[in-house]
Amino acid sequence: MTLTRSHTLKRQQCLILLVLVFQGIFASHHTASGDESVPTDPRLRWWKGNIHTHSFWSDGNDFPEMIAEWYRTRDYNFLAISDHNVLSEGERWMKLEEILNRGDQDTLRKYRSRFGGGWVETRGTPESPEFEVRLKPLNEFRALIEERGKFILVQGEEITDRILGKPVHLNATNLKEVIQPLGGSSIREGVINNLRAVEDQARRTGREVLVHLNHPSFYYTFTAEDLAAVLAERFFEVFNGHPSVNNRGDEHHPSIDRLWDIANTIRLDTLRSPPLYGVATDDSHEYHGRPGSRPGRGWIMVQSRYLTPEHLIRAIKAGNFYASSGVTLSKIHFDTERGTFHVHVSPVQDVDYTIQFIGTLNDYDRTSSPRLDREGKEISTTRVYSEDVGRVLQSTRGIQASYKLTGKEFYVRAVVTSNRPPEDPSFDGQLEQAWTQPVGWKRVLAPPPAD
Ligand SMILES: [Zn+2]
Ligand SMILES: [Zn+2]
Repeated sequence: MTLTRSHTLKRQQCLILLVLVFQGIFASHHTASGDESVPTDPRLRWWKGNIHTHSFWSDGNDFPEMIAEWYRTRDYNFLAISDHNVLSEGERWMKLEEILNRGDQDTLRKYRSRFGGGWVETRGTPESPEFEVRLKPLNEFRALIEERGKFILVQGEEITDRILGKPVHLNATNLKEVIQPLGGSSIREGVINNLRAVEDQARRTGREVLVHLNHPSFYYTFTAEDLAAVLAERFFEVFNGHPSVNNRGDEHHPSIDRLWDIANTIRLDTLRSPPLYGVATDDSHEYHGRPGSRPGRGWIMVQSRYLTPEHLIRAIKAGNFYASSGVTLSKIHFDTERGTFHVHVSPVQDVDYTIQFIGTLNDYDRTSSPRLDREGKEISTTRVYSEDVGRVLQSTRGIQASYKLTGKEFYVRAVVTSNRPPEDPSFDGQLEQAWTQPVGWKRVLAPPPAD
């Protein structure tokens, strides 16, 4: 009995000791990684990301992990790889010849040297024309790249439609299943059909999905009237870094900035509906330094507490973000009580900034006329609107400015332009910019107070 009791006692002591040791281990582990624990109610901060990117899964020219690494190591916090009508999932192999032709002769070597032979999967005999490399699905490579609170990957797709011979492209960010383009008998109907398919999926799967309309002036597909008309579309690309998307317009077509102002004026004044918000993206395809659509030209900064797809998308839907091609803003604040709109730049030394407040007032000249060609024939592009639409209401040189709304504005947005070109411009004469979302419009749509 005694022996057994002392044995039990010893076992108990042992157990206590073990518990203490484990507690010690956990305590020291906890202390060692204390700064990496999930913070309680972290502060609101800005997260940088690109939601329009192509890889080998469609017509981009590098492996998705290489692309994700490019962004992760350049202070981005989120990236959606959005290939044409495909998600990076399932089994896919690519012939070496195609890899080298599309990328450059070093593409496989760079991939191997970055991730190692243990990661890169190949099949077939090297040097044979059948030699192939496997494209990794997002869910397989994301664990390799993602870092909590620093960098996440979000599933994207560029729903790539062709309607009346023109490209109608919509990006869906954080979708679950691929959506094949649905077409339509008009540009507007095509947007509605594809948008509805995304909304249906979001509802069915219970996910937050963001849809934005891509490069409206690629082949000059969209008029400002088209952009205005599809009210369910709330987001579009005010800047896309691809060199062929006609950001500046031409003699027959307004710039994208002006398209935005015309569309938002039509929405608020005529259609009594919320305005479009603008995103900037890379639409990157070329990752080997050659001319083309290279990464790093357009991004969004989203204000959110948490770096998760759901939090980012909710913040974007609430308008808590801005678009950038190089200028960083430290603060955007619209004081609804006082009706003042403050914008603060996060300046770079020796760079000058101009902050413009742009908007349309309710007494604007509403006349518009069709655009005519040299023979006087009407051309099917955005009508000509008066200069009152999207006027510069105030322009300030410096790193901060405030605009006081008079009550006549349908909306006001700010554009900040620096006096230097971006690191890798997408067109001649480009200067770095940042675009805030329009503010001051909710009052316009509010029902009149009851007597
Ligand atoms: Zn596109
Ligand atoms: Zn694209």
